[in-house]
Amino acid sequence: MAQQRIVIIGGGFGGVKCAGTLRAHLRNGDAEILLFNKENHLVFSPLLADAVGSSLNLQDVIVPLRQLLPNVNCRTEEVKTIDLVNNCIEYEGHDGLPRRLPYDHVVIACGNISNLNVVPGMADHAFPLKTVGDAAVLRTHIVSQMEKAEICDDPVRRRWYLSFIVVGGGYSGVETAGVINDLVRSSRRFYTSIQEDDISVTLIHSRDQLLPEISPPLREFAREKMAHAGVTIRLNARVQLATGEGVGLGDEFVHGGTIVCTIGSTVAPVVERLATPKEKGRLLTGPDMRLQGSKNAWAIGDCAFITNARDGQPSPPTGQFAERQGRQCAENIVRLKNGEATRPFSFRVLGQLCSIGGHNAVAEMLGFKLSGFWAWFTWRGVYLFKLPAWSRRIQVGFDWAWLVLFPRDLSCIRTEVTDRVTHAHYESGDYIYRQGDVAASFYVIEQGEVEICRTSPEHPDGEIIATLGAGSFFGEQALIGNRPRSASIRARSTVEVIVMGREVFTSISKSLAPLRSALMATIARRLPNVWQERPRVRAALRDFNLADFIEPAPQPILRPTESLFELTRRFGESDEQLFLVSSDGDTLEGMVTLTDLLHAQARGVGTDAPLSEFMIKDPAFIRTTDDCLIAASAFREHGHKLLPVVKGKEGRSIAGVIRARKLIARIMQVVGPPAVPAAAPFASLEPAPLRKEA
Ligand SMILES: Cc1cc2nc3c(=O)[nH]c(=O)nc-3n(C[C@H](O)[C@H](O)[C@H](O)COP(=O)(O)OP(=O)(O)OC[C@H]3O[C@@H](n4cnc5c(N)ncnc54)[C@H](O)[C@@H]3O)c2cc1C
Repeated sequence: MAQQRIVIIGGGFGGVKCAGTLRAHLRNGDAEILLFNKENHLVFSPLLADAVGSSLNLQDVIVPLRQLLPNVNCRTEEVKTIDLVNNCIEYEGHDGLPRRLPYDHVVIACGNISNLNVVPGMADHAFPLKTVGDAAVLRTHIVSQMEKAEICDDPVRRRWYLSFIVVGGGYSGVETAGVINDLVRSSRRFYTSIQEDDISVTLIHSRDQLLPEISPPLREFAREKMAHAGVTIRLNARVQLATGEGVGLGDEFVHGGTIVCTIGSTVAPVVERLATPKEKGRLLTGPDMRLQGSKNAWAIGDCAFITNARDGQPSPPTGQFAERQGRQCAENIVRLKNGEATRPFSFRVLGQLCSIGGHNAVAEMLGFKLSGFWAWFTWRGVYLFKLPAWSRRIQVGFDWAWLVLFPRDLSCIRTEVTDRVTHAHYESGDYIYRQGDVAASFYVIEQGEVEICRTSPEHPDGEIIATLGAGSFFGEQALIGNRPRSASIRARSTVEVIVMGREVFTSISKSLAPLRSALMATIARRLPNVWQERPRVRAALRDFNLADFIEPAPQPILRPTESLFELTRRFGESDEQLFLVSSDGDTLEGMVTLTDLLHAQARGVGTDAPLSEFMIKDPAFIRTTDDCLIAASAFREHGHKLLPVVKGKEGRSIAGVIRARKLIARIMQVVGPPAVPAAAPFASLEPAPLRKEA
């Protein structure tokens, strides 16, 4: 039998069980099993709340997939699309470029993702709890709120720091409220300023009872026990908005410094992109878990809508169901391989367990109902047993035993990495990055010049398409578009750049409106195919001789010590709109435009202030060795009407200036009127925002 390739997308409860079952039934030669997961680990979500409450280490609730599934080919990659017609998946390779991989069977087990947009303001102000990263961030936040409360001398603010709001009264909401309450109240003795009354934990639920899946007496038990432990339970209350100060419930506002949202989820993007029948966004399957109308595509777990043949009900989105579907899906694939008929999914629920804090839980198992300490003990025993690796079982058992003797760990790990804004130095000819590289940083040129080079079928060795000088930035397009670099950046001279990591760049560009506008304007100017859209203009620019456009520099060349008064007089006596600045009359140091003069006067700069204080230092320039395409790109980039030209490949010896107007006039002569009336020869000369006009 030929080896088949079975691709599983998602390494959660469903995907892992499916991969493990397939491996147990199929020899290596029969099938290659590939499991794609965004992270390199399985998250054991029933214990996430314990990690938030510091009764478990974060590491204990995750299990590395390749250690869990030794004979499965595990890949930490995100699958972008599934092509059901051509039996292929597309994923992002290590270099950020798309790769395609054919399959014989595909199992979609992508789970779902948090969607805090269900309530206005929630996405901005609330913490989700879905991944181990969410648990880490939330735990750190809770401990730092206690630290802030300890040093806060305003009693109202201190209570706000210690007010925790949990939205959603299902399993994860109840467990999270319970662990936060335990953590904060049991740690109070280590803080001298925090009083019992300062702490409040509020659980808000839109229905009239918590835990709708559990029988009424157990629900009531849970409510009473939690209230007794200090959790305020608000039933029949719908959160309508969230702000930095708390949540709004219609006419009432509940204040709190921490909001945890356990409601709201949506399907993963790869599922959303699939054009196949869905029910409430989940992939609709036939009884044997194959997608409707497909012979070799299966869906399991939270992302699938599967009817349970045992009771005719849709399967709920729980780990219990996902695991069982994973196993039965794998068995069906094996049956198909053996030429047997598949079987419908059928499962009898084993029970429900929910920890409610304070060493209490509620449990319904195989018809038995338990509550209180023994239910909690059972809850711990069941989940300890269900952890998928012995190493983790021992570790978790040890951590729980540790808490019997010692208090919870209150250390608060700072997640900010130091120095994510760095400086870098490049020598002439060094590549700062290359076309196709994964985008990781954004750069601002402090000193020197770089050239942008792009390879294409016509220019396999690369052609220089533009140059950038001090004050310019680059690298923003690939970061914003989350795609590989579309061109290489090479130092033209000795270059000093400021390098910002992705996170810093994202947060600064979001919060700093002028930078955002400048980025948008730059992206618009640097459209990668701007010249491809105007091939005749491009060809003409390549053919022109730059020397034909160079004019003598406006005279006189000014010294940086000249005063504002002197400069005003010079502009008054001349028709020039710009003067170059040089101490020795030869080396370009700056330039000053009429606009700079007017701005300096408006700012109240003294009439005796030297030019060096308000001129454009290290201005952008073109070299006599450049061509007209680079000159046109520089006009587009800098939004100037006139640019200085310097001699040769090195140094800054002034050769003259070049005017955009002259270049445009020549293009119009050669190319004639544009095909589209609105198209400018090069869409460059509209003044760019935040740039001075020359
Ligand atoms: C806080 C919390 C507590 C819970 N407690 C319980 C409980 O006590 N009992 C219970 O039964 N259930 C519980 N659940 C629900 C349970 O975790 C889920 O029902 C279960 O994880 C679903 O399993 P799954 O395999 O469908 O998806 P998941 O376990 O969510 O796994 C999906 C995986 O697919 C990956 N993925 C998604 N898209 C792609 C892609 N395009 N390419 C590659 N990988 C991708 C994701 O990164 C993820 O690792 C809890 C859930 C939470 C959040």
